[in-house]
Amino acid sequence: MIIGILGLQGAYWKHRKILDLLKVNSEIVKYSGQIDFCNGLIIPGGESTTMLKLIDESGMREKLKQFPGPIFGTCAGAILLSEESEDHKVKTLGRIPVKIERNAYGRQVESFTQKVVLSFDKNPFPGVFIRAPKISCYKKGIEILGKLNGEAVIVKYKNNLLTTFHPELTEDTRIHEYFLNNLF
Ligand code: GLN
Repeated sequence: MIIGILGLQGAYWKHRKILDLLKVNSEIVKYSGQIDFCNGLIIPGGESTTMLKLIDESGMREKLKQFPGPIFGTCAGAILLSEESEDHKVKTLGRIPVKIERNAYGRQVESFTQKVVLSFDKNPFPGVFIRAPKISCYKKGIEILGKLNGEAVIVKYKNNLLTTFHPELTEDTRIHEYFLNNLF
């Protein structure tokens, strides 16, 4: 099995480190043709506007929208997977029926680490929130797997998973393991 990590921009190497720890093969995806050889994909955090621009320039948009395998998006990656951004200039990929608000907790200096309550594990997860988005609206059919102060921050829909924070910036592999064990 090969997990492709979208490597156009952002914190993609950190995902690779986690997959290495879990002994899962991964490939940094820079060209659209590489997507065909991946069984699953990860879209990292970074800057959603820049990432979408690079996705369009490299002709990946349709491939990502239609990709039949599981996709896991973190932070900016979560914005990309959402159906709609409150910020209409961000044209998302629309794989998860949620509406998302970018930079919803404030600026870079307002970034924080806080415990996320998980539905699939009794121990909370150390959520690193960096200019994180917030889910402002969601439709029937999504599954909430993690909450911060009662609000959804980990969401599953069909074979897509998003976290509005950065699990790859911790040593905790539980969310990547959840992705690998439950979405394939
Ligand atoms: N604020 C960024 C955006 O809108 C996301 C931040 C992140 O990925 N850490 O794209």
